[in-house]
Amino acid sequence: MGFPRFAVALSCLFVVVTMVPVFAGINDTWDWKDGKRNLKVYVNAADANKEFGGKKLKDIVKEAMDNWNSVKGDTGWEFEEGTADSHDIEIKTGGSGGGGAHTTFDNIDKDRRVSKRTVVMDPNFKKGWGFNDDAKKNPVSTMKHELSHTLRLTHQGGTRSKTGKIKDPQGSDTKDDDVTTISADDKNEAKKSSTAPIRKAEAQVGPGKDAHLEVLGFPDELPFIPNTLNATIDIPDNLFTADNTLVFSATEFHSMPEPLNVPAGVERMVKGVHISTDQTPSLSFFDVFVELNIPYEDGLEGEGWLIDINDPKWTPIIEPTLRPFYFDPLQGWLELGNLGSFTLDTVNDVMSLRISPQLLANYAGPGSGQRGLFLSMSGTPVPEPSTLVLFTMGILASARALRRRRH
Ligand SMILES: [Zn+2]
Repeated sequence: MGFPRFAVALSCLFVVVTMVPVFAGINDTWDWKDGKRNLKVYVNAADANKEFGGKKLKDIVKEAMDNWNSVKGDTGWEFEEGTADSHDIEIKTGGSGGGGAHTTFDNIDKDRRVSKRTVVMDPNFKKGWGFNDDAKKNPVSTMKHELSHTLRLTHQGGTRSKTGKIKDPQGSDTKDDDVTTISADDKNEAKKSSTAPIRKAEAQVGPGKDAHLEVLGFPDELPFIPNTLNATIDIPDNLFTADNTLVFSATEFHSMPEPLNVPAGVERMVKGVHISTDQTPSLSFFDVFVELNIPYEDGLEGEGWLIDINDPKWTPIIEPTLRPFYFDPLQGWLELGNLGSFTLDTVNDVMSLRISPQLLANYAGPGSGQRGLFLSMSGTPVPEPSTLVLFTMGILASARALRRRRH
């Protein structure tokens, strides 16, 4: 009877292996200005000697840089030590939500070229930092992961301890997170990201020229077809008084500004679009709107397929609460409010928006530093188990009270 048992074991293994999807872990929705591949890293002087798991931040960063540099021949990327005056990546400490660390954009132009990114490590990460300790998070492994985002790499689904890929997140899960090796897949995709062009769509807009643009709203090489595939924009023909270029791109958490600078009750921005133009739209037509569709992935397929609202790095989001936000450089992410309207289609996993030209005008055109308009979506996080228990107990208590009253 040994053979059937072996066959069962083998088929289980087969199922496990085939259930792990692979889509490209490249985030080609942005690139470094001038295609820079030698990146200067500067550890903020005020934070350099702060310790994470007994190791100084500057030593953690050095180890993570050396690790990536040891495979630079395979990746096409190299890290160098920078200074306060000359660097591409700044490392500092600060609040960083449930995952303990994140990487931001500090500076992006209308063509999605970036001149600075910042990695933020949270000294108050609730599970604590430590090495070879299942209850604590490995800070070097975390730093290697954050640096992967500066190489245009992104999450592929699943956690790092399970996939063995540095570019996969670990989130608040600290078990077996002492991954030290840059995997073959990490190297292979870093090589691809070092040559991939920026994924964006462009059109000439102006008097008598309307435009419809589409870009894939997900990573390349998807193993399945999401319910809605593309992000789209429709620009009416009388929105601009002169011919100019409109650039449209999809964004994800790692390619939009300050995705954690959000209003209360929201954990993080999920994904969205970036719209930029040379000219500020005309505001003389009240009945003219810009129409947009932004697709998302709800993670119903299970872990490993999770891209957006169920990214294992973050607290999941209650899908029907998804709503649109726009980025204001001075205030962070704000709810769309009366600058537009939206509908959410949770069957086809797409948010449709109608925005006022005023919103585009506020952030488009040369007067805004050509930063452009960022739109994104987020919603209410699923309550933590402890909150959920209290919440459920509250419901049970009131149900009991009702029953008692009825008797
Ligand atoms: Zn990450």
